Amino acid sequence: MGPATNTFADTIYALSSGAGLAGVSVVRVSGPHADGLLTALGVSPLPEARYAALHKLRADGDITPIDQALVLRFPAPGSFTGENVAELHVHGGRAVLAALFDAIVATGLARQAEPGEFTRRAFENGKLDLTAAEGLADLVAAQTDAQRRLALRQYDGALADLYEGWRARLIDLMGYAEAEIDFSDEELPDGLKAATEAKITALNAEITQHMVGADQGEHIRSGFPIVILGAPNVGKSSILNHLAKRDAAIVSETAGTTRDVIEVQLNLGGFAVTLSDTAGIREAADAIEAEGVRRAEQRAEDAALRLVVLDATDATLPAKVRTLIAGDCLVVVNKADLLNGRYAATGLPDGIDPILVSAETGAGLEELLSRLTGYVRDRLESSEAPVPTRQRHREALVQANAALANVANAAYPELAAEDVRVALRALGRITGRVDIDEILDTVFRDFCIGK
Ligand code: GDP
Repeated sequence: MGPATNTFADTIYALSSGAGLAGVSVVRVSGPHADGLLTALGVSPLPEARYAALHKLRADGDITPIDQALVLRFPAPGSFTGENVAELHVHGGRAVLAALFDAIVATGLARQAEPGEFTRRAFENGKLDLTAAEGLADLVAAQTDAQRRLALRQYDGALADLYEGWRARLIDLMGYAEAEIDFSDEELPDGLKAATEAKITALNAEITQHMVGADQGEHIRSGFPIVILGAPNVGKSSILNHLAKRDAAIVSETAGTTRDVIEVQLNLGGFAVTLSDTAGIREAADAIEAEGVRRAEQRAEDAALRLVVLDATDATLPAKVRTLIAGDCLVVVNKADLLNGRYAATGLPDGIDPILVSAETGAGLEELLSRLTGYVRDRLESSEAPVPTRQRHREALVQANAALANVANAAYPELAAEDVRVALRALGRITGRVDIDEILDTVFRDFCIGK
């Protein structure tokens, strides 16, 4: 291993299982001194690689043990990080861990890991690419089944395989592009230029097709954005509270109380949904309210679905609210309990099939929930084709595609080759093949200690 100045040459440890009371806690160690640390903690003889052995751990020189531990060794390079790795499965509990960490630090052989450092080392040692590292972070953070499946696919290499496959094709095409620089048309086989351009157009189309899934990927990962909109006092907060089954928004009788945007995360049929309640839409009375209305309108634009709430007792639809009923939208008529007879408001656009509910009695809310779940499932359930899951991926794909689209227009072969090179570089940034330094921190920022 390299000198101590190399940050990747030292040995790190961290609690890799969750914090708090637990039957078992797993402490992971990685680096050149992993075995030395085990010996220093009284593990003797060292367990065979990848076999678990029960040992009493002791601080240096202590007769009384810290705890009994199940000890595992994963020698380099056959480990998660690619370095020597040891795992100590001790009893969960604050005092056990505190004593063990004291003992580890006292040996002087290892230091506490930085957030994401284990995965970062795995990346540095070529054990996984950046998309797999992101997939791992997502898998650890996954709250819903759809998030778990998406993350696992990415961790398994679905995105990396796709992007590396495209890179390999571009590297081939690069050869042709460079041949055009070095040789005259007469020297090159007939139709080579046309064939190269056709291949680039085909790749361009594939990337475009792949990017169609970007919204879907980001919505599965971060939550499908649904916004609740409507005039003040129609019952938006009450509906959100019902759906969220807790008092997330303040329900009040004074019109215009939800001045900011309130967000809750729901799990609808295995999909994460971000539901936001917004300030009532009306001609604002003051500057603060106007700001609330502005934010509500902004949310409405960003949302994948608008839930427009009307009051069953309002005979006419306010003009500002009517404009919201367009595109991806579900109209909910609340306060059905106050309705004597049928709901009929003038101004409701044709072809709208509102859901009648009462946040007061709960009537119709099951129907609303199942309509919402069906809607989200329709939008997010799809083939198992890999999809981009981050803005970072999307930006690089846009760059790659723009460069490829330029190839056909390039005035000189040199410029065409440069365009291919730009596309290669953009794709390489997604998997971490190029420009490592500028992207590493962004990717590993979201990790927690022990991962
Ligand atoms: P928001 O301003 O649209 O968020 O409306 P709120 O949820 O704060 O509700 C405004 C008022 O209407 C409150 O007094 C609620 O108790 C009442 N309210 C909400 N939903 C219903 C309903 O279905 N029936 C009746 N009768 N009152 C409701």
